[in-house]
Amino acid sequence: MSHIARIFVEQPLASARAIPLPEGQSKYLLRVMRLTEGARVRAFNGEDGEWACVLSVDRKTAILTPQACTRPQETAPGLTLLFAPIKKARTDFIVEKATELGVSDLQPVMTDYTQTQRVRTDRMRLLAIEAAEQTERMDLPTIHEAAALPKILASWDTETPLIYCDEASDAAPLSQHANRLQRNSGGILIGPEGGFSPKEREMLRALEFVIPISLGPRILRAETAVVSALTLWQSEVGDWQKAPYLPEA
Ligand code: SAH
Repeated sequence: MSHIARIFVEQPLASARAIPLPEGQSKYLLRVMRLTEGARVRAFNGEDGEWACVLSVDRKTAILTPQACTRPQETAPGLTLLFAPIKKARTDFIVEKATELGVSDLQPVMTDYTQTQRVRTDRMRLLAIEAAEQTERMDLPTIHEAAALPKILASWDTETPLIYCDEASDAAPLSQHANRLQRNSGGILIGPEGGFSPKEREMLRALEFVIPISLGPRILRAETAVVSALTLWQSEVGDWQKAPYLPEA
């Protein structure tokens, strides 16, 4: 991993256009990382590529001045993770791992057995930013407001295959449905701790764009199912043929 700090900024990145950072990021660079005037920092904003920046300090504010674009912008393949929010720490885990594994969209889904009613999309965004920073990712996943399962299914683009992880049937593993998958366009649906209700399972199975799959003989926790299914999709039709980006030290 590079020693050079890498941070996500909200502002446009362009040569010599100074960016004063908000309090949290200033604190992180100056107090946690203990960087001083003249230090190098990498910055990205999801649009303008990655830039090598030089740090200056004005009292407690860290200011980045972009010097050169060191990496072109790229976007993650179109893959939406639809997940039923679960307990806080486990939802945090899902957001972090899904961002690392390259989803383009995170869609919290309210299902019949969803226990959590409160979905903190602001918190999800912070976690996604951290994961993107650490993972050399160039963009952030789009985080959608939570919505009810029937509503999401009704507005789903029927051309996009939706993989439905179904532990309660004799569905085949993903590899046996590879011919129905599309590069750059897909969705993965994972249920809450209590699984899907019989009504939901019936509704899902009646839809043509839904592909029920099994993740094997063990019943996985929702967050394990998320990581497993994303891994399978990425390996089958995602961007895993690209090599990791290795920044210079
Ligand atoms: N039905 C169970 C467990 C649900 S596990 C119960 O009543 O407790 C949570 C979610 O993870 C499921 O809804 C499903 O989407 C996914 N999942 C877990 N294990 C799975 C498996 N072996 N195959 C497919 N999906 C699985």
